Amino acid sequence: GASCGIVGLPNVGKSTLFNAITQAGAESANYPFCTIDPNVGIVEVPDPRLTKLTEIVVPNKVVPTAFEFVDIAGLVKGASRGEGLGNQFLGHIREVDAICQVVRCFEDENITHVAGKVDPLSDIETINLELVFADLDSVERRIERIGRKVKAGDKEAKQELDVLEKLKAAFEEGNAARSVELDEEETKLIRDLHLLTIKPMLYVCNVAEDGIHTADSNPHVQAVREHAAKEGAQVVIISAKVESEIAELEGEDKEMFLEELGLQESGLDRLIRAAYELLGLVTYFTAGVQEVRAWTIRKGMKAPQAAGVIHTDFERGFIRAEVVAYTDLVDAGTVAVARERGKYRLEGKEYIVQDGDVMHFRFNV
Ligand code: GDP
Repeated sequence: GASCGIVGLPNVGKSTLFNAITQAGAESANYPFCTIDPNVGIVEVPDPRLTKLTEIVVPNKVVPTAFEFVDIAGLVKGASRGEGLGNQFLGHIREVDAICQVVRCFEDENITHVAGKVDPLSDIETINLELVFADLDSVERRIERIGRKVKAGDKEAKQELDVLEKLKAAFEEGNAARSVELDEEETKLIRDLHLLTIKPMLYVCNVAEDGIHTADSNPHVQAVREHAAKEGAQVVIISAKVESEIAELEGEDKEMFLEELGLQESGLDRLIRAAYELLGLVTYFTAGVQEVRAWTIRKGMKAPQAAGVIHTDFERGFIRAEVVAYTDLVDAGTVAVARERGKYRLEGKEYIVQDGDVMHFRFNV
């Protein structure tokens, strides 16, 4: 499954947000393949299409697709030099697919800020520099390691060195690897370095409980937005405090509370969707009478790989897939009408699964 690591300086609201995530957490029995770890929170990806499919198919059970958030506390100034168990935390970041950086945008005299005052841009710089330093270290070590091969005239080593030098220059300027333009070939050459700053980043502005509706005029939020726009990063605004209250509620109570707050959906749901999009993930469905279920794949995956998300046997024994687009099925209103209209297609191994496809796989065991 896909995962997003939550980082940020101490006292910015990471734990509050992470607790909201685990509170709201998914029924883990449905996701046996997810990591069981106190630092991992499994969330269901909200998708209104599941409701529609349920109306059409009337299944016994509905299972949304899930997504993991990993609490990576302890990233502090000096982490890349090994301070505050730094290296251990950087190691955890290597394992996630994307980074969610919580930034404090609320003022509260009672809660100390590690740097003395609320200053999101300075906080962002501190965190990002630690990540850049760690990457610089990885790159320098690699350059050293391949030095002999390059001298001996190894062509591939020389190619790699060129990419490493390009990255090194960016890191020395304090810039992230994601800001360096690399073609497919170059990206491949440095893949096994597992650079931290190549991962997509999402900024989460944590605003005060009464600050959600006034976020547009919050100068801290404005500063983060400007910074993110320059980096091509996304921003989500939440109040971790409010999210922890929302997470304790369910069903009608939750809806009423959201309505009182003047919100369409929880900030957590917005965050989940933003992280999902950031990672280039899409959803396909299986829709049987037993179960209607959403599955996560990466954009561009072919049918056998997509089937493999359900079970490796499905991928190995893949024959073909019967596919109907979600919109065609919903337009038709029933499975029978969609069939009459010829909306069900048979697709083979080369078919690229589209967001919203309703799939039925045929496979050999
Ligand atoms: P972490 O160190 O980043 O994990 O931060 P915590 O989640 O432990 O939060 C630090 C302190 O800030 C706690 O006392 C929280 O209750 C408080 N806090 C978190 N979010 C908010 C918020 O939106 N408003 C206010 N006033 N306090 C908050």
